[in-house]
Amino acid sequence: MTVVQTSPDDTLDPALTSWVASANDPAADFPLQNLPFGRFRPAPDAAWRIGVAIGDQVLDLRAAGLLDHDDMNALMALPAAERRALRQRLSRGLRTGAAEQAEWSAALHPMAQVELGLPCRIGDYTDFYTSIHHATTVGRQFRPDNPLLPNYKWVPIGYHGRASSVLPSGQAFHRPCGQTRPPTAPADAPPHVGPSRRLDYELELAIFVGPGNALGEPVPITQAEEHVFGIALFNDWSARDIQGWEYQPLGPFLAKNFASTVSPWVVTLDALAPFRRPFHRPEGDPAPLPYLDSAHNRDHGAIDITLEVWLQTAAMRAAGHAGDRLSTSNYADAYWTLAQLVTHHTVNGCNLQPGDLLGSGTLSGPAPEQGGSLLELSAGGKQPLSLSNGEQRSFLEDGDTVILKGWCERPGLRRIGLGECRAQVLPARTPAA
Ligand code: MN
Repeated sequence: MTVVQTSPDDTLDPALTSWVASANDPAADFPLQNLPFGRFRPAPDAAWRIGVAIGDQVLDLRAAGLLDHDDMNALMALPAAERRALRQRLSRGLRTGAAEQAEWSAALHPMAQVELGLPCRIGDYTDFYTSIHHATTVGRQFRPDNPLLPNYKWVPIGYHGRASSVLPSGQAFHRPCGQTRPPTAPADAPPHVGPSRRLDYELELAIFVGPGNALGEPVPITQAEEHVFGIALFNDWSARDIQGWEYQPLGPFLAKNFASTVSPWVVTLDALAPFRRPFHRPEGDPAPLPYLDSAHNRDHGAIDITLEVWLQTAAMRAAGHAGDRLSTSNYADAYWTLAQLVTHHTVNGCNLQPGDLLGSGTLSGPAPEQGGSLLELSAGGKQPLSLSNGEQRSFLEDGDTVILKGWCERPGLRRIGLGECRAQVLPARTPAA
């Protein structure tokens, strides 16, 4: 695809309106200024197509004549300038009065009538640990006197996750089974195998890699954001009891790789540009090492994205109740920026590829009620949450649905939404004897 940008980027102008009427609702997640990318299919046996969300509709990019293929990973691999040119083309064609309306109308599908899938083929998945508030609260449960390990403020902590079990939003999954042994058990007691009893969610963002880097060629921080395609919502489901028994000395394994859920729409950094914020560390903290520091990262490294976690229990669903909001936090409170994650991940020469997924880590805020997991909100299960219908939760129960939401808002600008990331917990399947 060759698209030449011939006009200045005015795609963020809040005064722009679309001929897709639903996109002009001030509460819409997907106004003309957003234009997130995802994959959809009109029928369960159809091939995946690349779409752009506009209001409550999906524009099929190939049917609209904007692409000659349906390969999202190829689109993600395009240089940033070509991706921006496509965004510009989409913005102009979807504007009120655009000549494209007649042709593109035939390429629209109501979002509610299509299946939304994984945004791309996810080659590799890495999960980070970028919230110092999450790291401190969880660390305190294990080490009350020394909650934060000495490497935290120097090196972005991460581990390699599993891409094969990253699921599209809406796909239910079974409670995992595995080995557990409570920390209170005698040292010679054998572990138990069975369904996890401490199943949790983790409120995260998925950072999708755009163009990759060659093996052996680190990405300098000044170029890191050119390698980011965009951001979606991400739930890193976690079995705390399995994790507590298996994690030493090599870190997360079966406690994490049974399911992770990602939202369908990838919001580009172009759409998020008005919501960038200075990135500052607290007074007295060490400055990032030079390879993880840049003027752009200091001035604009943070992104003001409001995040929410909602829980709908089976009883709530039966009663027609949309669920309770469990917490709210903001991505701007993360301790490491996405540019730092890309640069650190490649400092050793590791090659990222288009469609790779970087999890932000649980995005907890500074206040206790801003914990991005039940592990934090229930103090390790010791203080169950009381729900609005009288139920209580320390950890997730079968039939529970967790919904993540995220959006950017600022006076004078259009709201940029990330949509929703949701999935329901099904009962465990009995493990083989
Ligand atoms: Mn995680």
